[in-house]
Amino acid sequence: MSSDNRTYRNYINGAFVEANDYLEVRNPANGERLSRVPVSAGADVERALSAAHDAQPAWARLPAVERANYLRLLADRIRGEAKTLARVITEEQGKVSGLAEVEVNFTADYLDYMAEWARRIEGEIIESDRPGENIFLFRKPLGVVAGILPWNFPFFLIARKMAPALVTGNTVVIKPSEETPNNCFEFTRLLDQVGLPAGVFNVVSGDGASTGQALTASPLVDMISFTGSVDTGSRIMRSAADNITKVNLELGGKAPAIVLDDADIDLAVKAIRASRIINTGQVCNCAERVYVQRGVADEFADKIARAMADTTYGDPLAQPDIEMGPLINREGLDKVVAMVERATQDGAELLTGGRVADLGAGFHYQPTVLSGCRSDMEIMRREIFGPVLPIQIVDDLDEAVTLANDSDYGLTSSVYTRSLARAMHACREIDYGETYVNRENFEAMQGFHAGTRKSGIGGADGKHGLYEYTRSHVVYLET
Ligand code: NDP
Repeated sequence: MSSDNRTYRNYINGAFVEANDYLEVRNPANGERLSRVPVSAGADVERALSAAHDAQPAWARLPAVERANYLRLLADRIRGEAKTLARVITEEQGKVSGLAEVEVNFTADYLDYMAEWARRIEGEIIESDRPGENIFLFRKPLGVVAGILPWNFPFFLIARKMAPALVTGNTVVIKPSEETPNNCFEFTRLLDQVGLPAGVFNVVSGDGASTGQALTASPLVDMISFTGSVDTGSRIMRSAADNITKVNLELGGKAPAIVLDDADIDLAVKAIRASRIINTGQVCNCAERVYVQRGVADEFADKIARAMADTTYGDPLAQPDIEMGPLINREGLDKVVAMVERATQDGAELLTGGRVADLGAGFHYQPTVLSGCRSDMEIMRREIFGPVLPIQIVDDLDEAVTLANDSDYGLTSSVYTRSLARAMHACREIDYGETYVNRENFEAMQGFHAGTRKSGIGGADGKHGLYEYTRSHVVYLET
């Protein structure tokens, strides 16, 4: 194993610039050092925000179709370097190479998709009460958007925030997670090559408590677009409150999967297992708890435990064919260990897994299934963010829906049944932002990814996600 001496620099006003302080980025699969990235101080953040603020009026005056062309050029460059970019993601985040490649290509498609909206941004003409008057509702950019990123889909989330922001005429300052900044600087390298006007897109890396906090507290920010934990989302809202800054928050989930007694059990097992191991269970919309109807409970538990036990895992770069990599860091691993321990102490039965996987180095955890869970247990209520599936038995659909809805979270949910009537009943009663019937994640870019309760405010993707980055301006015109 060789140590890597890459040093990345912040991107401010169209140039890569030094910072005073740097932090190290390491590979979670083996602890190897990968790079140094800036810890941006308040002054760095202010410089980036000022650049974005100054660049915004001219950027907004460009026709949307010209703004969109930069996204298309970037998408082409990303496709051209897909393998290299996927490797950068895998080595700092730990996801398997196949998934990293999907993330890179999906990101390019997402940029193209958002670019298509350039000719579809529409205002409204509203009927007036006055003779000779026209009422026009224009859609205008908000100004400067601060995008604060998590580490689980770090490359895609840059595009999910910057593409709708830029096509609608905003400028952007991105703060990647300190766990996964390298891919963001690679994204920025490609964006720099397409000749985007200086100041339109800026990157400042660093930790949340200083760099992130400086971003969210600045009066130069017109919207904060954040993906991450509920606690941090709540802190960001408090910080934004002083300047009445708009927030858009995606704060994770505790997705319930309901398996009814008329379901195709093999399909449910396959989908739920895939959802639970993808990205090592560190996905906001993957099945985090199962409610299975009594008549099929034993069959389901037996099959999913065997399927989870068969999962291959390890260091994704050393063993390219494995299905699952490590957890992101020590904190993530310790959280999973403690939650499983408390669940078994509380009466859950371990069907498979339940231990740290001893691979010599890295943050690996065995794929785990727990049965006999109850709705009052922490494992059924708190986000695990690891390859652990707790199962609770229910008597019928209504009990399952009641338990599913009794949650702080409200992002995604799923139902497995062959009955259209039961599927529709579940969709009417379940109180979530998204429901998958007879499948698991992922969501589509033309949908609208948004949750209720503590899963967040606002949403992303599609027309509704695009318009999150605009405000209205109503003009009353008497002639
Ligand atoms: P956080 O919510 O703490 O971090 C997400 C981003 O917010 C990071 O860029 C972080 O910076 C930044 N941040 C942290 N504190 C502040 C602050 N005060 N002001 C502004 N920005 C801040 O998530 P963690 O990485 O700590 O993960 C913890 C848990 O969050 C996970 O176990 C999971 O349950 C949940 N999570 C949910 C995600 C989702 O998809 N919804 C994604 C990631 C995590 P930095 O980390 O660089 O210090």
